[in-house]
Amino acid sequence: MSVGGHAGVQTTEDGSLIIKPALPLEHKFYQDLSTQDGFKDLRPYLPKFFGTLKLEGQVDESKSTADGSIVVKKTKDAQKDEPIGIEARWAVLQSLVLENLSHPFLKPNILDVKLGTVLYGEDAPPEKVERMLKTARETTSLETGIRLTGFQVYDNITSQPVNTPKSYGKSIKPSDLPEGIRRFFPVSSGESSLGLPAKLLFPILQYIREDIAEIRSALAGLHFRMVGGSLLIIYEADFAKAEEGIQWVKDVEDGKIDPEEDDDDDEDVKEEEVDKKRPPYVVKLIDFAHTRVKPGEGPDEGVLKGIDTVLSLLDGRIKEVESML
Ligand code: ADP
Ligand code: MN
Repeated sequence: MSVGGHAGVQTTEDGSLIIKPALPLEHKFYQDLSTQDGFKDLRPYLPKFFGTLKLEGQVDESKSTADGSIVVKKTKDAQKDEPIGIEARWAVLQSLVLENLSHPFLKPNILDVKLGTVLYGEDAPPEKVERMLKTARETTSLETGIRLTGFQVYDNITSQPVNTPKSYGKSIKPSDLPEGIRRFFPVSSGESSLGLPAKLLFPILQYIREDIAEIRSALAGLHFRMVGGSLLIIYEADFAKAEEGIQWVKDVEDGKIDPEEDDDDDEDVKEEEVDKKRPPYVVKLIDFAHTRVKPGEGPDEGVLKGIDTVLSLLDGRIKEVESML
């Protein structure tokens, strides 16, 4: 279910939550977000944060790793200096419990877009700064403020997601980005078993664009530096469910239904979470492992540049899809 990042994000058994081992900065960011008024406009565009889980372990400060990750050792049993294992090497004591954004979708098409032109934090060691400067230069990051980290798109025939790994986004040039966006928002046709019919994709693209424009305004008013953070874009690939979602959005816009109210039967509300009527897409900011609030320093221009790139890519795709209607 994850399309980018490390292999450490886990889902709870019912699929509704994710557990993400988190560095202290990410934990702090979610705490600030919940408590500080300045974040009010951004809050709707972050996954719901339910708190933290604590692992039984302790950061092993004697073991430094090349990528700046952290080694956790067990504390409360006999083998006390044995690291938990390779997959937990970068885990820390606190894991964040977050809303699983893809859970309400039948067939979630998911894109992770890494934002920003600066890919190293202020505490990065010199060799990491060098490495990240090079990565930004050699990928789309420096010039456009984004990199396509990875995405999945459902195949309508097999009903299985088709994954595009991060090597694709890392290898392309800025002039290839429109093609990348086309691959994530394909129009189903005789030749392709991927994507939605143009008439369903068109409104969804517009809704996504509107939300991203709102995210831009919220970020423009915040003083922060985001490193390695992403826009996570998800939309429904199931035709019937997408159509139902579009109708739901229209009904809400027309005042026919109240989005706060569950229009299903009152009984079994919890169990029916997945069937709850809702928009056929979601856009959120994720991954704040290296995001710092910086009062007085203004917004992160590289991140805003990236959002502007995404907006103009969407404008381009909206025009193309409109011509297929
Ligand atoms: P990292 O890149 O540090 O491993 P991320 O927070 O970017 O961690 O998460 C990795 C991947 O997990 C994302 O690309 C996304 O596919 C998935 N993911 C992260 N947070 C959520 C969430 N709240 N809901 C659904 N999927 C998520
Ligand atoms: Mn990430």
